[in-house]
Amino acid sequence: MTRESDGNDNVTVSVDAAWQRRGSGRSYDSLTGHCSMIGLKTGKVINYKWRSKACRICQRAEISGNIPRVHKCNKNFTGSAKAMEPDMVVDMVKESRSKGANITAIIGDEDTTTIARLRAKVDPTIDKALQESLTTLFQKYILNSEKLANLGSTQSNESFNKSVAAKAPKNRFYGGSRSLAYRVAAAVAQKNTGHKYTVDVNVSSGLSPGLYTRKLATLRDIQARKRKAVAITTEAKLRRIALKASRNQSSSTFEVREGVCYQSNTMIDTVTEDSDEKILEIPAPKKQTSRE
Ligand SMILES: [Zn+2]
Repeated sequence: MTRESDGNDNVTVSVDAAWQRRGSGRSYDSLTGHCSMIGLKTGKVINYKWRSKACRICQRAEISGNIPRVHKCNKNFTGSAKAMEPDMVVDMVKESRSKGANITAIIGDEDTTTIARLRAKVDPTIDKALQESLTTLFQKYILNSEKLANLGSTQSNESFNKSVAAKAPKNRFYGGSRSLAYRVAAAVAQKNTGHKYTVDVNVSSGLSPGLYTRKLATLRDIQARKRKAVAITTEAKLRRIALKASRNQSSSTFEVREGVCYQSNTMIDTVTEDSDEKILEIPAPKKQTSRE
């Protein structure tokens, strides 16, 4: 665990979990998942957890009808995939606090039960940053308050998740052994110290750091720094905004014409509204031939 304060400061963290496999739409059937906790100030991964519902040794034994040999079982979770996130977050907050990090506010996804569980299990005073003040401010937006409160703030967790996905591709299964844990750990090391973590790993396990490993790691770190430096310039930001605006504009013209296709609670809301009107398609504009 990295310390980001002297222990007396209030630490705000962002948490976000991801699954190695995600079913289409709302079905989560992944056997594995991981979760990161990132300090808001430092952008470093303070803590991380992984959960797996599978163990290859147990599975093999079951297939062959034998009793599995004595082993360090990889299975550390039995619930549903959706229940992994709250379980991991509760675990991480407990652990980080016991090590002295004074976590007082948590930024999360649109997952309310995580915070509710945290309040019940760890600390009833824990605050979901901004959410409560927003709740009182915008009664109308209560349902979306968490989304609004957290605009962009789990960004670093999401970038971490991408890094994990690069090391543990979604079309491969690593959850049956510690392979997944090592892959997640590698992503944490890369996030916190950069690509040179490979050199550090070699050194700490008594291997030669490797001339080419070191060279490549340095190169990758320079590239990453450059990318970051460019991304935070005003020009890059303006370009991103312009791109997003043009994307939004073209998609919203289509959405208006197509009617409601996908929207959460869309079928509940229609009780009060005319549902036929909602799914009504508006024909595309005719090409103008001449002015009359
Ligand atoms: Zn096992």
